[in-house]
Amino acid sequence: MIRLENIQRRYVSDEVETTALYDIDLHVEAGEFVAIMGPSGCGKSTLLNTLGTVDRPTGGRYLFGDRDLAALDEKELAKFRGATLGFVFQSFNLIDELTIEENVALGLAYRKEAGDRRARVAAAMDKVSIAHRARHYPHQLSGGQQQRAAIARAIVGDPKLVLADEPTGNLDTANGEQVMNILSALNDEGATIVMVTHSPSHADMAKRRIDMLDGRIVASAMRAI
Ligand code: ADP
Repeated sequence: MIRLENIQRRYVSDEVETTALYDIDLHVEAGEFVAIMGPSGCGKSTLLNTLGTVDRPTGGRYLFGDRDLAALDEKELAKFRGATLGFVFQSFNLIDELTIEENVALGLAYRKEAGDRRARVAAAMDKVSIAHRARHYPHQLSGGQQQRAAIARAIVGDPKLVLADEPTGNLDTANGEQVMNILSALNDEGATIVMVTHSPSHADMAKRRIDMLDGRIVASAMRAI
């Protein structure tokens, strides 16, 4: 479904040049659950942002299905993101002025064909057990509940790919596990997920683990079943 070929990302500022990604080759098939690990600064976020099309590579190709994303301009990319991708962030990124159900509905903003929006929002909230907080505001919820709501927003439009950037990074152990169980269950139902994590035990819940070091993928292993 996804192919990164020879992806490079170089930052140039004044005289300093940093290469965040060197020649990354990565294929992700529909239905996979991939965890990306590695020390701080190794390029994990840059790789995830590249997959999310919020960062443009300075070299290489990004194919999504049979579309070459380099051919899209910013407006087309924004549309592609809204219709195809779901994002989950370490800090939840819910909008404080909106209720939980309104936040979840934002995940449908770009999906004109989304059908019965109300039913979809209700189903997504049900899936992550947050429906009882639908009329609450984010600040009235615990971190774990907020992250579950953020996952509902990410999946409400049935995206082809869910990108999660340290989704358990701000949660205690119990809430982190709950979030991982939800991601795992979504993957079992067919969702394709790529997740950055610092937790080896959470990486073990993915089906494949990729290790990065200094801007390169240094290992890729399927989980033993
Ligand atoms: P990680 O997510 O693994 O901590 P990042 O992808 O954030 O790593 O960063 C990879 C490298 O790219 C680091 O050396 C970082 O300093 C550099 N980098 C990231 N963003 C920028 C930027 N906007 N300008 C310059 N260098 C950057």
